[in-house]
Amino acid sequence: MFHIGVDDTDSKSGMCTTYIAAVLIKELSKFSEVSARLIRLNPNIEWKTRGNASICLVMEAKNEEKIKGIVLQKVKELSVLENENTNPGVVFYRGEIPKEFNDFYYKCLHEIVTIREAEELARKYDAEVHKFKSGRGIIGALAAVGSDLKDHTYEIIAYRRKENWGKERNVDRASVYQMDAKTFPLTFNNVDYAEDRILITPHSPCPVFFGIRGEHPEILKQAYEMVRSEEKADVVAIYETNQGTDAHLEHVRKISDIRAYSSVILDGTVTREPGIITGGHVIFRLNNGGGSVDCAAYEPTRDFRWIASKLRVGDVVRVYGGVRADKLTVNLEKIEILKLAKLWEEKNPLCKKCGKRMESAGKDQGFRCRKCKTRLKGKIKEEIKRNLREKIYQVPPGAMRHLGKPLVRF
Ligand code: ATP
Repeated sequence: MFHIGVDDTDSKSGMCTTYIAAVLIKELSKFSEVSARLIRLNPNIEWKTRGNASICLVMEAKNEEKIKGIVLQKVKELSVLENENTNPGVVFYRGEIPKEFNDFYYKCLHEIVTIREAEELARKYDAEVHKFKSGRGIIGALAAVGSDLKDHTYEIIAYRRKENWGKERNVDRASVYQMDAKTFPLTFNNVDYAEDRILITPHSPCPVFFGIRGEHPEILKQAYEMVRSEEKADVVAIYETNQGTDAHLEHVRKISDIRAYSSVILDGTVTREPGIITGGHVIFRLNNGGGSVDCAAYEPTRDFRWIASKLRVGDVVRVYGGVRADKLTVNLEKIEILKLAKLWEEKNPLCKKCGKRMESAGKDQGFRCRKCKTRLKGKIKEEIKRNLREKIYQVPPGAMRHLGKPLVRF
């Protein structure tokens, strides 16, 4: 098979690498069937435009020279080359994917890699690399070529006609709620019910009209037909993707094993109670083995912060989240409560005869029942009812990473 990887064609002011993929699918389908993968890479890198997406197209290895010409022409024509942060890269590779390409994909999910690493690996296996400007996009392009999708989902994306780019997206909200009611959980993250907000339309001026995520192409086609709008889409494409799979998360045993820019699953005990800092973020301290790390539920995670804020010292939890450059904070995506600490408070005793809470009988005089005058000496310890359950909690869909696995998929 012939593999085409493309990345870094867009900027915040416009374009989207997946749009170029959709245009290419249309153009290249005259040669053979084209399958398309939309691959999300390390969500913690600072220079991504939005969701760190790259794409890989796979088709029959025939007419390669013509295909390459079309791909390079479209990337040159559609990329936002005038933006200093747009540095497209294209990779062509024919044949079985070497294991090292697959390892490179995983490295790009969990770490930071250099353009040079990508170039050297491509050279070793005779993959053809095309760099535009600095060509940083070859990192994502090669990773997409090397990607395997052990767990996978699909996304159907409708793109807008050029004359509508940048204009407000008018999708009938009620139809999205109905589509969600009919197709969830085979489609997911269509609506944030707590915020009463539809999530299928982006807010950037890019060519994407809307996208629906789900378990298989058939349900996506049905869901797509249910969404109503006056605006007609230009092209529509379906991608196989690593979105919604938690592919970015890695189990780490010790806090000292955490690397900057990685995304971790880590068990530990709460050692400092949550506090709210300026901006409405909730932070608590987690300890395991010798080390400790702060865990943050940031303001955009909305009600999820109140879950984090109910944790207490001694609770045993599993946290899921991305790690900032300074390695000191885990940006929480999920919290699994493994064991709630038992908490006690001292209270006046209950009357043994009538069950009423007793009152103080005066300094050093013990307690007395107001009703029957029974007396008792000391205070009692009562367990505090915890307003949390031993289960997994997740940020709301509007605050989820593209790679984040919704609980409904567990
Ligand atoms: P969009 O989602 O809108 O397509 P984006 O968020 O994917 O945009 P890009 O403009 O593609 O952002 O920028 C990401 C850049 O980071 C690309 O050049 C890509 O090659 C590179 N990159 C991806 N993963 C890594 C990584 N792990 N280490 C270093 N660079 C990476």
